[in-house]
Amino acid sequence: MIELLPENVANQIAAGEVIQRPSSAVKELLENAVDARSTKIQLIVKDAGKSLVQVIDNGFGMNESDAEKCFKKHATSKIKSADDLFNISSKGFRGEALSSIAAIAHVELKTRTPEDDTGTQVIMEGNKLIKKETIACPIGTSFAMKNLFFNVPARRNFLKSDNVETKHIIDEFQRVAMAHHDIHFTMHHNEHLLFDLPSANRKQRILSIFGKKYNERLVPIEETTSISKIHGFVVKPEFAKRTRGEQFIFVNNRFIKNSSINHAITVSFKDLISKEHFPSYFLFIEVPTNTIDVNIHPTKTEIKFEDERAIYTMIKSCVRNSLGKYNVAPTLDFETESSFNLPPIEQGRTITPPSIKVNPNYNPFHKETKGYVEENLDLIQQNFQKEFDHSNQNDYTEDFSSFGTVSPQHFISYKNRYVVTTQENGLLLIDLFRAHQQIKFEELKANYSNVNIITQKLLHPLEVDLSSGDIQLCVELKEEFLKLGVEIDQFGKDSVVIHSFPTTSTSIDARAFIESCLESFKHENTHFEHPYEKIAWGIAESYAYSRLNKLKNEEINHLMESLYSLASPKFNVKGLPILSEIDENEISKMFK
Ligand code: ADP
Ligand code: MG
Repeated sequence: MIELLPENVANQIAAGEVIQRPSSAVKELLENAVDARSTKIQLIVKDAGKSLVQVIDNGFGMNESDAEKCFKKHATSKIKSADDLFNISSKGFRGEALSSIAAIAHVELKTRTPEDDTGTQVIMEGNKLIKKETIACPIGTSFAMKNLFFNVPARRNFLKSDNVETKHIIDEFQRVAMAHHDIHFTMHHNEHLLFDLPSANRKQRILSIFGKKYNERLVPIEETTSISKIHGFVVKPEFAKRTRGEQFIFVNNRFIKNSSINHAITVSFKDLISKEHFPSYFLFIEVPTNTIDVNIHPTKTEIKFEDERAIYTMIKSCVRNSLGKYNVAPTLDFETESSFNLPPIEQGRTITPPSIKVNPNYNPFHKETKGYVEENLDLIQQNFQKEFDHSNQNDYTEDFSSFGTVSPQHFISYKNRYVVTTQENGLLLIDLFRAHQQIKFEELKANYSNVNIITQKLLHPLEVDLSSGDIQLCVELKEEFLKLGVEIDQFGKDSVVIHSFPTTSTSIDARAFIESCLESFKHENTHFEHPYEKIAWGIAESYAYSRLNKLKNEEINHLMESLYSLASPKFNVKGLPILSEIDENEISKMFK
């Protein structure tokens, strides 16, 4: 009954582990070029790697016989016996990458060694040798992978949008480029040069990938002991991001993921950054090759340390020392930062009533719609007191109304973010920020792709410097931005510029806006039905920030009307509450 699977089927199965998406091929091909001791490596990608991934290197190449042999399963020049597994200094060693790639794509290899006058060209399709001939070519290797998953349509369908796949490719490219700062790397996508990284020191390499702004943000770390050497940089706490941004761990110049090391760094940052922020770091660990096991994961992104505890302790102490030594005192106000997550509010900004279409027949309030205009908190408080006294005299049981019945008399605002108001059956707390954001979000969604979308030319275009990968993502999303009223363009090599924005607000934190949009594109997010909603959410966030100020009662009334005309005023698109009620029973309980 048992039959051995034909080699091409076995290869296809194995290929699934190694090559999950175009970026996996990018990683394997770049690593082969590094292992070939190249000093210059070019990556060329078309259509997010779905049509082409090509790596050209100037390394030691392969002779005619190896050029064919390298596609065989378990073909490797890097180890000879199982003992070698614990003494690995090359990137590859499993001999699986090329056979996997050849199993699921069309490949063309051109290679020549320094000893040979001519090179070899090999063409493979689905692991079948199609062509092999002697050709003239430069020393080194060019490996082109075309039509990925041509014979596994199901896998092809699993691939994500070009934006997402390109982002994965850029991630892999950056990891290899960071690990090998002395190699000159370039990357082209659809004919555009995205990166040109000449040989440099580690710090320069980081700056050329993430932008010169990192120059003042990096704090060096360094520690050498008998078991290991740790060096690299952590990003100063005040530049911590609200999303897991730049977190890189390299062990013997291999990018790895390791939650224990990440924990050691996070703990070192405790008390320096709020719970909502993540530290950024570029950590390089050198250990003797016989103290780690690299062969525990097919993609080699996880490794086992002989003594993980020692590494943990060492990292914790050296990061702490550096933060102390460089006198990186916390400059954030954690109280406000952690509880409100908001940038400081500018003084003296003028407020215009929200220009949001609402159902004109909807009136969440009982008859009374008269609103007070109160500038002065004392006055508001006095009035609240009056109202409170007045309410107490009334018989509450008389008119018990349902949720959502707001008395529009007045609102007390707290920290410019929340307002408290009375309802007949208790108190209502409103998160103004979330309310504004949700209303704007719904409005933008309704106007998506509408040619008459209201947008505002900015008097002073806003420039934001970004990493090349993020710039690329912005450029690819340009059309989507435009359909929502954001006109955005690449500006020079490392920044983008926003020309118009779909709110009339005069102050937009362009960086926060771009970062928050890009961040949601980089991660799967189940809250949003359509990708463009991620941008709409980012715009709505900027809008909501700009609305946070001393709002007048009438404006809050207006806002509440808009809120209640939404399908679900209680929760935002992410399922977080916008309103919270404290009912009478709860209040009376407080005084028992
Ligand atoms: P591994 O890297 O694990 O050895 P691969 O399937 O990636 O396995 O590659 C198989 C072999 O092909 C390598 O061991 C190496 O000898 C050869 N090879 C692959 N890419 C290159 C390259 N760019 N330059 C020179 N030799 C290469
Ligand atoms: Mg390899």
